[in-house]
Amino acid sequence: MIRGLVQGVGFRPFICRLAARYGLFGEVDNRTDGVSVILQGDLESINRFSNDILKDAPPASHIKSMEINETRFAGYESFSIAESKTVDNLVTEISPDIAVCRECLDDMEKDPERIDYPFINCTNCGPRFTIIEALPYDRPMTSMKFFKMCDGCKSEYEDILDRRYHAQPIACNKCGPVCNFRDITKSISNLNQILDEVSVQIASGKTVAVKGLGGYFLMCDALNNNAVNELRQKKHRDEKPFAVMFRDVSSVKNFCYLEVDEEREILSWRRPILILRQKKLLSPSVSNGLKTTGAMLPYMPLHYLLFKHIKTPVVVLTSGNISDDPIITDDSTAEKQLLKVAGSVLSYNRAIHNRADDSVVRIIDHMPCILRRSRGYVPRPVDLKMDVEGILALGADQKNSFCIGKGYQAIMSQYIGDMKNPAVYDFFTESIDRFSGMFKFKPEIIACDLHPDYTSTHYAEILEKKLKIPLVRVQHHHAHIASCLAENSIEDEVIGVSFDGTGFGTDGNIWGGEFLIADIEKFSRFAHFDYIPMPGGDKAVSEPWRMAFSYLFRYFGDNLDYKSIPLFRSIDANKLSVVREMIIKKINLPLSSGAGRLFDAFSALLGLCSDETFDSEAPMRMESAIDCETNDYYPFHAGETIVFSDTFKALLEDMPHKKTGVIAAHLHNTVAQVILQTSQKIRRINSINKVVLSGGVFQNKYLLEKTAALLRKEMFEIFTNHLVPANDGGISLGQLAVTSKLRRICV
Ligand code: ZN
Ligand code: FE
Repeated sequence: MIRGLVQGVGFRPFICRLAARYGLFGEVDNRTDGVSVILQGDLESINRFSNDILKDAPPASHIKSMEINETRFAGYESFSIAESKTVDNLVTEISPDIAVCRECLDDMEKDPERIDYPFINCTNCGPRFTIIEALPYDRPMTSMKFFKMCDGCKSEYEDILDRRYHAQPIACNKCGPVCNFRDITKSISNLNQILDEVSVQIASGKTVAVKGLGGYFLMCDALNNNAVNELRQKKHRDEKPFAVMFRDVSSVKNFCYLEVDEEREILSWRRPILILRQKKLLSPSVSNGLKTTGAMLPYMPLHYLLFKHIKTPVVVLTSGNISDDPIITDDSTAEKQLLKVAGSVLSYNRAIHNRADDSVVRIIDHMPCILRRSRGYVPRPVDLKMDVEGILALGADQKNSFCIGKGYQAIMSQYIGDMKNPAVYDFFTESIDRFSGMFKFKPEIIACDLHPDYTSTHYAEILEKKLKIPLVRVQHHHAHIASCLAENSIEDEVIGVSFDGTGFGTDGNIWGGEFLIADIEKFSRFAHFDYIPMPGGDKAVSEPWRMAFSYLFRYFGDNLDYKSIPLFRSIDANKLSVVREMIIKKINLPLSSGAGRLFDAFSALLGLCSDETFDSEAPMRMESAIDCETNDYYPFHAGETIVFSDTFKALLEDMPHKKTGVIAAHLHNTVAQVILQTSQKIRRINSINKVVLSGGVFQNKYLLEKTAALLRKEMFEIFTNHLVPANDGGISLGQLAVTSKLRRICV
């Protein structure tokens, strides 16, 4: 019996080929809890067979355990795949999309029917989630149903020893999907002409829309600043950095530092965008002053073909959408909307059924941390130690994902987006229906955020009424901690450090700098960052200078010469006095303990970002500014309320004569010290030694690595998110886990 991620990833054909290699008879069978193999033959071959399973397993599989038992049964005359007897229970297994494999790339050079075939695939690679309409995962249930296999493909599909045995999207130049190219004047269907045309467009600084696996993307030369600027303008994109695709690993290494862990991740079959440290500048407009680059490698055979023709070693490859709409997946919308942004569209005639953005990963503390979970990860379930059947968790409003419970598994949706956008909301409701259909899921209980005004909360209330099922509201920061507890299967109480920008607290204030004592079921608040007024509410989030003023005004009032601080000299005097009035007269002044707001204030004071042009710009710029090794930190007061008046005092004193990079490091170290000292205090009082760090703030590599090092030195046990994002993209898993516990108590 082999357990783990062994279904829907070409595992049974692999076992068949292995059996043939050693001349063993028997059968392989998909079971609810794994893959069962019966072998008949000599002991030595069986042993070698077992060793090879672990050594050569398909790339997308993951073996968690292998149990070997002796049986007396014999009488097999061949090796075969047994008919699945429990298909209904296997519905949770849909593989994520897998990057094209080495063997298929080789076949593109030598398999006569597949020379330069842009949609080549096998059981080890190719599209999965993005083409599946329903289960079981068979060709008629995918968007390959319109393509009739030619005789050659059919015989491979049926040959148990072939690498394409039961490869559902199998295709070749004769029978499979084909590319097409359009601009305003012409349409081309010959592949070589298409590739030549695209290469001309890219070389001349144009943008081309290219259909990818999970949606359309916009592509231009990442070394041509005019091209990148023009793309930014036409897409109505703020200054948020663009992701880029490099030709190969050596080009990545030319432009970015690539540590061993990072190289492994960027080359993995999931092919995420990896956040890397820059070595050499691409076109400046790609990263807009940040010292990191979101880099990925080709994952579709089509990408490899493109790079054979285009000259530049690196292209911008950003989601094909306007502003913050969901990435476009259907061909007619692409033509309508993207032809205006790009001059031309490279498409193909296989439909994308499930939308999936590129996933984003950053190696922090030597471990992959997922910042955006989509292509390559979804819909891989998270295995849990608790029964979550029937729970539908709707997530948060920013970076939304939702999560459904099937048995002891949580199936999280792809990255959905920010719910204030109506098109994102449609994507959200549509995806819930799709997941329910695909996984034969029927909600019995709903979970949502405690925030009364979240769009996801409103949707939860609609479902509650419509389906007449209970609704559980989970506090945001508890959900962050619970997401990490769930993925790490931790049942005990922990010190939960939940740091992010915004989340609705049980006292009606905005939380986000929280020290909780929590298990999955419940939490109490041990300490939190000082409540600071947010002048103008949401405005204070997008204009960090307001938080800088608000912090200083709270701690020093009028005993400070604000005009002596460079930030306030750069702010319009009228605006400044309006904000001051708001604070004094308590107009539109929600209170926030958000750690994100503290970083905003720091970043603004340092002159790094006074007005944000994209989400989390201020903290990102502050992390990016650090340019030295130091453990120094500023003073602070860590009581039940953590007060930063001494921190700001020291910061103002340092500003005139210390480098920004050094001060930025000190400020990060200060927050790491706050975490250490507060954790020590909780350990003294409550004898808890496990610390969970979750929430969007922990996407900050410098902060998380510093904090982890400090805590480890003091012998704390540390847990962070690796299967789901630490940011609000992981909230739905936390809600699911909390609800499972509460339901058990109710029963
Ligand atoms: Zn392959
Ligand atoms: Fe959050």
